[in-house]
Amino acid sequence: MVKLVCFDCGQTNRVPQERLAAGPKCGTCGTPLMDGKAHEIDAETLAKAIRTDEAPLVVDFWAPWCGPCRMMGPEYSKAATALKGKARLVKLNTEQHQKAAAQFGIRGIPTLISFDKGRESARQSGALPAAQIEAFALRPSGAKG
Ligand SMILES: [Zn+2]
Repeated sequence: MVKLVCFDCGQTNRVPQERLAAGPKCGTCGTPLMDGKAHEIDAETLAKAIRTDEAPLVVDFWAPWCGPCRMMGPEYSKAATALKGKARLVKLNTEQHQKAAAQFGIRGIPTLISFDKGRESARQSGALPAAQIEAFALRPSGAKG
């Protein structure tokens, strides 16, 4: 079983590993837990997901005023779709959540951080194309290739 926090209601769900790619839903609110979309989440939900999630979690620290962040947006969404069932990709708006950005030591955006079982496993600054975001997301586990 793999623990995943619902990005909508914050509930912790337990999902069988083999069902991750089949589009599991939150038992409490019915929101898809791994739908291949890059979800915008708040600092509180992010903190809980980092503590709880047992699947790779990637966070894009971005802001609406940041040109490179906006450029990377569609690429990030593409990567999220490609990684459905393998990793969850989320976005944190650093303008709305400045305290969280400071806690994670974000100096420039966009910055990607991947978390694996509660720990930061990799960090990368600068806009990336979808293929590189996918490679980044899967690097911690080392399972791919
Ligand atoms: Zn839910």
